[in-house]
Amino acid sequence: MADFDRRTALKGGLTVSAVGLLGTATTSAADAAPVVAEPKIHDTAAWSARPPSGTIEVQNHKPTYIVVHHTVEPGNVTDYTLEHAFWASRSIQDFHMDTRGWIDTGQQFTNSRGGHITEGRHRSLEILRGGTKHVLGANVGNNNSTCIGIENEGLYSTEDVTPALWDSLVKLVAYIASQYGISPEFIKGHRDFNSTECPGTVLYNRLPELRTEVGKLLGTASPKVDLPGWPLLKPGDTGPRVRTAQELLRARGFAVPVDGVFGKSTKDAVVAVAERNGLERDACGATAATDETGFLGSDVWPLIVGSGTDPRALKARLAG
Ligand SMILES: [Zn+2]
Repeated sequence: MADFDRRTALKGGLTVSAVGLLGTATTSAADAAPVVAEPKIHDTAAWSARPPSGTIEVQNHKPTYIVVHHTVEPGNVTDYTLEHAFWASRSIQDFHMDTRGWIDTGQQFTNSRGGHITEGRHRSLEILRGGTKHVLGANVGNNNSTCIGIENEGLYSTEDVTPALWDSLVKLVAYIASQYGISPEFIKGHRDFNSTECPGTVLYNRLPELRTEVGKLLGTASPKVDLPGWPLLKPGDTGPRVRTAQELLRARGFAVPVDGVFGKSTKDAVVAVAERNGLERDACGATAATDETGFLGSDVWPLIVGSGTDPRALKARLAG
């Protein structure tokens, strides 16, 4: 009985301080910039999430980047109901816990093709509302402590997102950016960090538009024009960019041909570079439907560029 009373008293105390903190934050944010309203976000209890299998790590800093993903599975469904969004959230959590062996859903938030937003990893919504800390997820290999990730349901390599998904993505990203004071230029795609197709070329190419729309909601000027990133090259690709990669790999001691064809030996060399450097592969997708072995992207390029090469000049040349 005494324990029960203490817990009740503690809970009451926490509630009072939480209200006090929120009041302060709202007042100061209103002075600085327009407050972006919280979109409807369905928490883990709403979609009947399993409890995490370990302790959720909350880091005492804000995330730096907001990262856009695509889920690949269950594909580009036409079931736009909330019930389906909840089912997809459970399916992703099962895959991440049972197959990947993670303690919970990897990403902090999930956005359905019907435009329904759900909380991914437990505590992500509560911590986002606080605006000062970061729930450590598992969605951007080697970069999870700086990235807060949104998984968008579907596969966007050749198809575009639904208008409903786009609309909720803009609102969610704007809310996250507003809560943490993140500038739109720090909105990124998964492939800006890892050698992955994610979030699909079509959605990736809409990120400048996303930054502009979020900037409007934040009341900030148009974000700076992005410098080109590293290109994503895949086994089977051909052309001058593959040739450049092969020249760099040869200079690193790999016996690959310099023929501009991304064949097996080039793929093997890329895999070896990634493994030697301990690169984590967080390919998105609720099943292993996509094989991204040997993709050469943002995390591999810096490892094969020699010290005598200016990376910015090389990026510009590869983009041109
Ligand atoms: Zn991803």
